[in-house]
Amino acid sequence: MRAFHRKLGCMLTLLLAMATALRPFAALAEAEPAAPEASILVYHRFADEATDSMTVRVATFEAHLAWLRAHGYRIVPLRDIVAWIDDPSATLPPKAIAITVDDGHRSVYEVMRPIVLRERFPVTLFIYPSAISNASYAMTWPELRELRDTGLFDIQSHTWWHPNFNTERRRLSGPAFEQFALTQFTHSRDLLEHQLGGRVDMLAWPFGIYDDELVALARHAGYRAAFTIEPHNVARSTQPLAIPRFLMVDACTPARLGQLLGQHPAARQPQP
Ligand SMILES: [Zn+2]
Repeated sequence: MRAFHRKLGCMLTLLLAMATALRPFAALAEAEPAAPEASILVYHRFADEATDSMTVRVATFEAHLAWLRAHGYRIVPLRDIVAWIDDPSATLPPKAIAITVDDGHRSVYEVMRPIVLRERFPVTLFIYPSAISNASYAMTWPELRELRDTGLFDIQSHTWWHPNFNTERRRLSGPAFEQFALTQFTHSRDLLEHQLGGRVDMLAWPFGIYDDELVALARHAGYRAAFTIEPHNVARSTQPLAIPRFLMVDACTPARLGQLLGQHPAARQPQP
C-alpha cells in the first residue's frame, strides 16, 4: 500500500512539475534583468531506455550535460549554492548550477557513476537510508562509500523512509506527527553519518512536500538547507529550508532545459 501511495505521489508530483514546465514563457521575456541566480537540477534514475516516469535516458542526460557546457554553465557543489544563500561574502561563478539525485536508486551507481567519473563534476545524492542495502532497487552501503570516496559525491538526507508527510499528518495527532517528522529527520541523519562519516545537514523533501511546521522541525533537527521540486532558479534571498530545484524527466529536451533555466531565446533577445 505504501508503495502504491509513493507511486501515486510521484505521479502527482511529476504532473505538477510537467504542467509548470510546459507553461508559456512569455513572462520571462518581460522580466527585468534579473538579480544573480543559480540553478539546481534533480534526477532520480538513469537507464538506456526510459521505462518509467522518473527514469532519464543516458542519451538525455548526456545531452543535458553537453547543453550546459555549450552555454557556459558551471556545475558547482550544492553546498556552494547553500553558502551563497547563507553568507553575503560567499561568491558563485556566473551560471552556477548544481546536480542532485534523489532516492539512492542503484542506477546512480551503475549508470551515472561512470559519466560523473569521466566528466568530473560534483553531485549531491539525497538518500533515505531504510532502503540502502535493503530494497532491491537501491544502492548498498559499500556502493555509497565508493561514491563518497571519489570525492565527487556528497551524500545527504531524504528522510529515513521517504514518507508522504501529507498522509502521515492525516493519520497522526499533532504531537505524534511532530515526533514522527523529527524521527524521520534525525534518524536518517544519524544513520548516514554513522555509515558514511561526514556531515549531514541538507535535506530533500520527500515528494517535495513541506510547510512551515516541517521547515521548523527540520531546522530544529539541525538541517541548514532543504530542497523542494518547485521549478524555479535560486535567488540569494531564497529561504534556505525551501530551495527550489528543477525536476528532470526524460521528456526534458535540452531546448526545454534551456527554457527552464531562463535561456529561452525570447528571454535572451527581447524584441524592441
Ligand atoms: Zn524521493
